[in-house]
Parts: sequence; structure tokens; C-alpha cells
Amino acid sequence: MRSEEFRRSAAAVIDWIAEYLDHAENYPVAPRVSPGEIRAQLPPSPPEAGEKFAEIFADFEQVLFPGVMHWQSPNFFGYFPSNNSFPSILGELLSAGLGVQGMLWATSPACTELETHVLDWLVDLLGLPRRFHSSSAGGGVIQDSASSSAVCALIAACHRATGGRAAREGMDRRLTAYASSQAHSSIIKAARLTGLGEENLRLIDVDADFAMRPDALDAAISADRAAGKTPAFVAATIGTTSSMAIDPLAEIGAVSRRQGVWLHVDAAMAGTATLCPEYRHLNQHLDAADSYCFNPHKWMFTNFDCDCFFVADRSSLIDAMSVTPEYLRNRASAGGEVFDYRDWQIPLGRRFRALKLWFVLRSFGIEELRRRIRSHIDCARQFAEWVQADSRFELAAPPRLSLVCFRHRSDDATNQRLLEMLQRDGRIFLSHTRLGDRFVLRMSIGQTRTTIEHVRAAWKLIQEFAPPVP
Ligand SMILES: *Cc1c(COP(=O)(O)O)cnc(C)c1O
Repeated sequence: MRSEEFRRSAAAVIDWIAEYLDHAENYPVAPRVSPGEIRAQLPPSPPEAGEKFAEIFADFEQVLFPGVMHWQSPNFFGYFPSNNSFPSILGELLSAGLGVQGMLWATSPACTELETHVLDWLVDLLGLPRRFHSSSAGGGVIQDSASSSAVCALIAACHRATGGRAAREGMDRRLTAYASSQAHSSIIKAARLTGLGEENLRLIDVDADFAMRPDALDAAISADRAAGKTPAFVAATIGTTSSMAIDPLAEIGAVSRRQGVWLHVDAAMAGTATLCPEYRHLNQHLDAADSYCFNPHKWMFTNFDCDCFFVADRSSLIDAMSVTPEYLRNRASAGGEVFDYRDWQIPLGRRFRALKLWFVLRSFGIEELRRRIRSHIDCARQFAEWVQADSRFELAAPPRLSLVCFRHRSDDATNQRLLEMLQRDGRIFLSHTRLGDRFVLRMSIGQTRTTIEHVRAAWKLIQEFAPPVP
């Protein structure tokens, strides 16, 4: 492809994206395809001779497009938001155009410095502890996902708890970790991947609001210590995926500090809300946290992937991760005056992800980001009121921020059927969870273009499909 064709094609793609995002609500949210249906339309091997962009794009529209889920539809209320925005897409495009590898400061100084700078902005904007600012002993880095942040935090925690032996000699079989039974599956995955082992991750009981019980945490750590174990890591959650439950950070922080274990705080979904001063209190007790992450790629109009990960003491992370072959040695790194972000993450290579975040922050401006987040939260509050006003339904957990967990006042099978009917209908998309061993519907409101009118229409549809209570 020559630059002339690139220019023309790129203009067409940009037009297509603008048109798509402006009208994404016109599509059934979930695709109606069966397993294998998309692949069956693809040739068994790639072409020997290059094809014209127009032909490739035609196949994108005809073969692939019918098989995508419309996550950007304002009628998407499933799982969690994964919203995007025009400035974010432009930042992503520039990152692809530059194609830089930001593994070391030296391999693209702007990539590292913008990232450090934007993450420092976020420390101030979210009211995070000063310890997470790059001017202290800590700092922030962009990871691909909250899952990677969990792995990095756990590696650093085990490194610290063993005085570095975990990295040299392998995982100590005595190491233990703790998270609530409502913690995200990525914490369990991190326990598996790091070699800590799922059996050495204790899932702590929760209270009636699905938040971790600090007394149970304290007891579990003490019991392990008495049994000769080495408690190393606690993961607390601000905004669990199932129900947006908020673990009591002040108490968990006190336990972690007293017990000398690494405290990682996962705010993947809820963190964005703390851009608004009225939700800043969620971050109030982070002083004891050793690491923290949240996902602009969920609710902050920044397309996947972009997880902001902060550590209070970067040296425990870097000591655990840094391996320097000769071909990466350079004066700036040796001088110790720069960050080499390869040492803060699992892969060596890294994309220029800060660009899209910088574009979003500057193009929206903080006031507009706050306005949109507040509007989502207002929508959720209104939706919860509607649920409570209909005697067929009940709330299944306290509604928090942008998430409402609710259920039909009957059995699991009825709720499951209701969800399936809605998903088959396609005009809206909701997903489910289990809370207190009951099947629960989740209304997660956070798409870029979702307004109260979309939420009102969704509720009307749910009411239409809902049977009377037996
Ligand atoms: C979504 C979510 C995750 C996982 O996020 P990824 O970035 O996809 O790994 C982890 N924790 C919580 C609380 C989440 O909501």
C-alpha cells in the first residue's frame, strides 16, 4: 500500500468509524451468530497476491461486522463499560503511526515522560496518596490490564516478603495471599500464574453488602503466620465486578500494615468515579496501600487497553522484574535518572499508550469527564428507583455508582429466562452474576453515548418482558 492509497483508505475508515459510533444504537447489541459461522466464511489460506483495500474492507463489513458485539452502543449495559471516544481513537491511531517501542526511556523518551507525567496528573486528579507520585519513591505506569497489574503487584509482594529469594530461588511454598470471595477472577489467576498457587490464596468472607470482613482477614493472616506461613499479599477492591462492593480500606489498611503484608487495591471499574470530588472519599484510606490500579479503558472514554498502575515503592517492583541484557544497556539507564518502564511490567515491549489518555484528558477537560460520569451515576440512581417502584422486582445489592444489581422476585430460572429473552431480543444487552447464591441481573451504565432516555427505554423493555410474580 502506497501512501496515496493509505490516505484515501484512512479517510474512508475514519468516516466509517464516525458514522458507526454516531449510530451504534441502531444495531442489535449482541450478534446473532453461532459458533464457527464467521470462520466458515473466511478462506482457508491467505492470498498469495496482495488485495485491494476496498476488497478487504468489504469483507470486514460483510463477514466480520455481523459478528461483533456492539460494546459502544448506548444500549450496552452488560459486564462493565468499555467505552471509547474520538480523541482516544486519534491517540491510538498516532501511537500506531509512530510505532515506537517504549521499553526504555532511551528507546523513545517522549513515550516514557508523557506516561509518567499523565500518571502524576492522575495522582492529583483522583486524590491518590502522594506516595504514588513519581517525585516520591513510587510512581505510575500504564499496563495493558488490571489483570497484569495484579500479577505485577503479587510478584513485587512476594519479592519483598522473601527478601528477594522468590526471584532467585523460585516461589516459596510458604507464601500466602488474601482477597475477598468477591475479588475479581484476575486475582485468582495472578495466584496461579505467579506460582503462588490458588490454594495459597485465601478467599476471605464478606459482609451483607459483599465487602471484605477485616476481622476475618486479620484472623486468616494470624492463623497462617501461626502455622509457619509467610503472609505476603492482600488484594482489596474498590468496586467489585459483581456488585460494586467497596472493601473497608481503613480497616484493611490497618491490618495489612500491622501484619506487614503488601496491600494492592483494585479499583479497575470504580476508580474513574473519583475524578469527581464527591466520590473522592473512596480513595480516602489508600495511605496503607502499596499499589493501586484503575482502568481508564473501562469508564474513562479511553479505548482498551489502558490500566493505570501505581506503586508506593517502585524499587520493590523494579528489583523483582529487572533483568538487563547487554544489548539494552545505555547511559541514561545506568545513570539512574530515568524510568525504564520495561521493569514495571511483564513484557519487554510497550506501546505509546499514554497518547490516548493524554488526548482524552485534554480534549474532554476534567469538567466534562466529571459531567459524564455524574450523568451515568444519575442514570443508575434513577434506574434503581424504577426497580424499587415495580413490585415484581427487588434490588439484589445496594446500588453503587454506575451499577444496579436487581432481580425478579421469583426464582433463578425466571431471572435467567428474562435475561435470555432480553439478550435474544437484542435491543439492549444486560449480563448477570450470582450474589448470595442467587441469579442476579446487572445493569451497568457507562457507555459514552448512554443517556437517561436509553436507560428509560431499557427499563420499559425489561418491564415488558417480565412475568408477574407467581
Ligand atoms: C474489569 C475488572 C478487572 C479486570 O480488568 P482487566 O483490565 O480486563 O484485566 C479487575 N478487577 C475489577 C474490579 C474489574 O472490574
